[in-house]
Amino acid sequence: MLHPNQWQTFDQQHIWHPYTSMVNPLPTYPIVAADGVYLELADGRKLIDGMSSWWAAIHGYNHPVLNAAIQQQLTRMSHVMFGGITHPPAIELAETLINITCEPLQHVFFADSGSVSVEVAIKMAIQYWFTQGNDKKQKLLTVRNGYHGDTFGAMAVCDPVNGMHGLFKGVLPQHYFADAPQCHGDTPDKNALNSFKNLIKQHHQEIAAVIIEPIVQGAGGMRFYCPEYLRQIRQLCDQYHVLLILDEIATGFGRTGTLFAYEQANIAPDILCIGKSLTGGYMTLAATLTTTAIANGIGETPLMHGPTFMANPLACAVANTSIKLLLESDWQKQILSIEHCLKEGLQTCKSLKTVKDVRVKGAIGVVEMKKAVDMATIQEQFVQRGIWLRPFGKLVYTMPPYIIKKNDIERIMEVIIDVLKIKGLID
Ligand SMILES: *Cc1c(COP(=O)(O)O)cnc(C)c1O
Repeated sequence: MLHPNQWQTFDQQHIWHPYTSMVNPLPTYPIVAADGVYLELADGRKLIDGMSSWWAAIHGYNHPVLNAAIQQQLTRMSHVMFGGITHPPAIELAETLINITCEPLQHVFFADSGSVSVEVAIKMAIQYWFTQGNDKKQKLLTVRNGYHGDTFGAMAVCDPVNGMHGLFKGVLPQHYFADAPQCHGDTPDKNALNSFKNLIKQHHQEIAAVIIEPIVQGAGGMRFYCPEYLRQIRQLCDQYHVLLILDEIATGFGRTGTLFAYEQANIAPDILCIGKSLTGGYMTLAATLTTTAIANGIGETPLMHGPTFMANPLACAVANTSIKLLLESDWQKQILSIEHCLKEGLQTCKSLKTVKDVRVKGAIGVVEMKKAVDMATIQEQFVQRGIWLRPFGKLVYTMPPYIIKKNDIERIMEVIIDVLKIKGLID
């Protein structure tokens, strides 16, 4: 085993991290332990986690109840194939998911990551129309600034400009992109809605489904939009016989203030993708849920997907416990108080010359800069001040674990403001 002071060099020479290059690697920070909302660096320093490990660790780290759930399942069986076999953790989880999501969603496909659950959702939609005798409906309609994952099917519905996937353009299926709805206000953005209407009206005969992140667009721009826009999308889908896939991989399990973001629009999707915080950030697990109409509509032809680690028992067991923990907690109050705190604290950023917009929704706080920030430099400044954030592009943002205490959120915001004020760093 290499000495800790050799880790970074080795890492940079040999290990890819998300969206990095072997030739021009970005710095990485060795984390050796995590507990509650704190990440512990190899040198012993502790960082307040403002990221929940990308939306996932909603209960914080090293949670005794989640640890116990995994340990208990581990002594029974850590894994078994799901082909021809079922097991209690998967059954319990499917039952829970059916109970906590809207009535029409009655059937569950377990996937091993968010991207895979999106692939499955797309297959369901296309296969549904195929079984209905319609092999023309194979395209998707979505909005710009979306993010749905990194596999090929999912990539094809990510924002075509900032989606980091321009390189693969020639390989990707071509879909339809409507303008992204605006970030502010309670009435739907007319122009964006018209752009959507025109596309669905013109192309519905080839469109199998609309795929969209409800209320909050995550990695494609950290943008918010009003519930009424989503309600109208649902109506247009019904009117033009197009299925609605909601990608709640980031927004699910309370992040936006309701258990699922679609609840704010009072609608139900035909297909729902969940992931990220499903296991409280402990293990990789995702799921695609659908209605009886779609499941029956797909018919006798098997749904053509089956990951090796489908419904991994450890992951299902910790998901069951994470959901219980969430529902037994006063999560609505926690999210509201985080929202309140973020709204108050991030105000100050609005007056900075370099800042374009500040927005807060549930336990998500976003500072959009006028220009892109240099991630490595700005991250180093955050780490020096004891907080963990991962800005990208023009966005400096936080979505802390729900268990975070007021003084730790305040510290995160204090540091953000401090760092954004450093002369020469941003402007
Ligand atoms: C993260 C994310 C995905 C992809 O999930 P992975 O587990 O990273 O494959 C898809 N959609 C949304 C909205 C996400 O935030």
